[in-house]
Amino acid sequence: MRTASRCLAAAAILLLAVPAAAQAPVTALVGATVIDIDGGAPIADATVLIEGETIATVGPRGSVAIPAGARVVPMPGKWLIPGLMNMHVHFGLKLPGAAGDALLKETDGEQTLRMAGNAWKALQAGVTTVRLVHTENGNDFALKRAIARGEVKGPRIESAGELIVPTGGHGFREVDGPYGFAQAAREQFKRGASWIKIAISGGISDTHGAIGAAPMTDDEIRTLIEVAHRNGMKVTAHNGSVTAAEQALKYGVDCFEHGYFLDEKTLRRMKAQNVWLVPTMVVSQPGAHEFYRRIGSPDWYLKRVELVGRDHWAMLQNAIRLGVDIALGTDQFPHEPNDGTTATVAEAELYVKAGMTPLKALQAGTIQTARMLGLDAKVGRIAAGQYADILALDADPTRDIKALRTIGFVMKGGDIVRDDDNLAVPRA
Ligand SMILES: [Zn+2]
Repeated sequence: MRTASRCLAAAAILLLAVPAAAQAPVTALVGATVIDIDGGAPIADATVLIEGETIATVGPRGSVAIPAGARVVPMPGKWLIPGLMNMHVHFGLKLPGAAGDALLKETDGEQTLRMAGNAWKALQAGVTTVRLVHTENGNDFALKRAIARGEVKGPRIESAGELIVPTGGHGFREVDGPYGFAQAAREQFKRGASWIKIAISGGISDTHGAIGAAPMTDDEIRTLIEVAHRNGMKVTAHNGSVTAAEQALKYGVDCFEHGYFLDEKTLRRMKAQNVWLVPTMVVSQPGAHEFYRRIGSPDWYLKRVELVGRDHWAMLQNAIRLGVDIALGTDQFPHEPNDGTTATVAEAELYVKAGMTPLKALQAGTIQTARMLGLDAKVGRIAAGQYADILALDADPTRDIKALRTIGFVMKGGDIVRDDDNLAVPRA
């Protein structure tokens, strides 16, 4: 009897809950052309119906009924694509030079607030999902939770926590021996990491050691990767070295960042093992020089960038030709000015310049990245059941990738966070 009345009470709550859920705000984006990110025919004069934070229906106008009371946003002449995703981001980035030096005494509180500001700017630039690949002291998870709770606006965050390296390596959290790496990986997991980032070679910003070096032992790499995989995390490695790449590939690494000096043999092996490449081309190509001058980078740093740039470019061309899975990442703020646009858009343009079709470059920043993260059921497409992460452009990016320079409308999870043309302002 008591169970029965409890069931009735539960049923009553459910009945009350249904009308409330049905009141989730409904938005209809009407009249734009929706790009099929999988390469099918675009939908011209489309209606995209959004309920709450999710896409309910997408189809030609007339095939989609717009419920009474919905907010209707007219979008004639616009092209809709899924929100962009950037897989190599540090919202708290500090680099060698005057700008980085000014941040040496930054507290965690100050850094987290600076990161929140950068997260907002990244979202404004059309980046609705990021993977953070090093942030100190768990500040990334504080930001991730604040965004998830709606206290701060920014992209969806997947994070690797702190970059783990051997003592003297390219990074922050220095550990030694297999157990040192295991413990550091488990600590990131406890904080909320879904990835582990290690540095298995040197980097452009190092003052000692070579980019081509491979300082980790087999035991260290093997144990680190095993511990990460046992906890459901993937491992990405900062890497420019062929020797270090072979070592990490032997033990099942999931992804390489940068890949500066990777040769054809290594790239073929990556392709065979479904290992991802996040190229971060913008850090080594000419468009970055303006950036390095702005942040007051020293001369030795600029020289190193130029030296690495040519090999990095040849590596990207090879990777594209060989069909290695590429996910877009910048290693600069997603919104950082670069070559007259943002770093994220400049990165996609470089992929096209190096041999991708515009559609492939778009995929590298949307469904490919979603697939790499294992989130493709929820993000990366404009399709029913996905989060409503949608950008509007003034031209067709599958014809010319430079159309990404015209992002003027950004929606994340049904929330319009940018609307340059006031499309969503009701007209009398
Ligand atoms: Zn980085």
